[in-house]
Amino acid sequence: MDPQQQPASSQQRAPDSEAKPPLLWLQTILFSSTLLIAAIGVPWYGITHGFTWLGWLGFAVVLVANGMSITAGYHRLWAHNTYKAHWSLRLFFALFGAAATQNSILIWASGHRRHHRHVDDVEQDPYSAKRGLWFSHIGWMLRDYPASADDFSNARDLQRDPIVMWQHRHYLPLVLLMNIAPALALGLATGNLAEHLLLAGVLRLVVSHHTTFFINSLAHFWGRRPYTDENTARDNDLLALFTYGEGYHNYHHIFQNDYRNGVRWWQYDPTKWLIKSASWLGLTWDLKKVPDFKIQRAVVSMHFKRAEQKLRNRKGDPDASKLQEFLEQEYQQFRQHLQDWNAISQGWMETKKARLAAQKEALQHNLAEQYDHLHEAWEHTRLRSRLKELEYALKMQRKRLEALTLQMA
Ligand SMILES: [Zn+2]
Ligand SMILES: [Zn+2]
Repeated sequence: MDPQQQPASSQQRAPDSEAKPPLLWLQTILFSSTLLIAAIGVPWYGITHGFTWLGWLGFAVVLVANGMSITAGYHRLWAHNTYKAHWSLRLFFALFGAAATQNSILIWASGHRRHHRHVDDVEQDPYSAKRGLWFSHIGWMLRDYPASADDFSNARDLQRDPIVMWQHRHYLPLVLLMNIAPALALGLATGNLAEHLLLAGVLRLVVSHHTTFFINSLAHFWGRRPYTDENTARDNDLLALFTYGEGYHNYHHIFQNDYRNGVRWWQYDPTKWLIKSASWLGLTWDLKKVPDFKIQRAVVSMHFKRAEQKLRNRKGDPDASKLQEFLEQEYQQFRQHLQDWNAISQGWMETKKARLAAQKEALQHNLAEQYDHLHEAWEHTRLRSRLKELEYALKMQRKRLEALTLQMA
C-alpha cells in the first residue's frame, strides 16, 4: 500500500469499524469470576457467618502491599525509573506485584511506556481513553488487541534487571503462590480459612484490580488539568485517595520522571512518602524531582492559555482591550523570567563542571588548597537565591492570572 494513502493521524481512524479481536478467555473468566465472588459470595458469607477484625486487617495489609507494589514498584520504579531501589525492595515489589495479577513487570511496564508515548492514540496507546471508559478500564485486557502485543523494544533496561526477568519467567506460579499463600497462612493461623480466602484472597484481588484500573479510566476522564491540556489525563484528589496517590495523573503525564505524583505538600500521595522514607533507610536513592520552576512554568502557561480563550469569547466587550494589554504585559514578563531561568541553569551547570574539574585537579596533585571551596559556595548561594526570586516571581504571576481569569468568569 502506498504510505501516502494512509491517514495522517491514527487518532482519526475508527478503531471498532472492523471485527473485534478474539476474546481472551482466561482474563475474562478471571475478572468475572472474582468479581462475582466479591459481589455475591463475600456479602453472603458476611451475613451468614460474619467477619472478624482479623479478617479485615489481613485484607487491608495484603491490599496495601499489592497496591504499593504496583504504584511504587511496577509504575514509578520500573516503568519510569524515577528512583533506584535496593534488591530486597525490588524483590518485595516483584512478589506482591505478582499477587496483584496485572501481568509481569516487563509486560506491564513496557505497555505503560507505550501509553505515555502515544497517550490517547486509539491504535498505539494500549488503554487509550479516546476509546471510552470501559475500554480504558478493563476492555483493553479482555480481547487480543494489537496495541497490547508484547513488544519489549522500549524496555531493554528492564531486561537487564535479574529480578524483573526472574518474575517474568516464573510469573504464573508466582501469581498462584502470592494470591493463595498470604490468605492460606492467615487462615491456618486463625483456624478460619474461608474468611481469609474470601477477604485477603478474592475481595482484595478485585479491589486491587479496579483501583489500579481507575488510573487508566477515571483519571483520564474526571478531574482538572492544571499542568497541560495536551492529553486527557486529569488530577483528581478523590481518586488519589483510592490509588495511593496516583490520582494526580495530569501532573504525572507531563512530568513522568518525577518520583512524586502529588507534588503539593497537602496532596495525598502515600507512594511518594513510601519512596522518600525508604531513602532514609538506604533502600531507595537517586529520587528524581522536577525543579519547582518548571512546574510553575507549566501552571502559568495553562493560565495564559485559559485567559486568552476567555478573552476571545469577550470580543466587543469594552474591557477587553484593557485586559488584553494586561495579559500582554504579563506575557512579556513571563518570557523574561524564562530567559533568566535558562541563564541561571546554564550558570549552574558551568559551576558544577568547574567544581568537578577542580576536585579532580586537587585529587591529582593532592593539594586540597587549590580547590577554592569558598568561591564555589558563594557562587552556588548567589544562583540559588536568584532562582528562588524567580520562582517567587512566577508564583505571583500565577496569582495575578488566577485573579484575572476569575474576573473574566
Ligand atoms: Zn505512568
Ligand atoms: Zn495515563
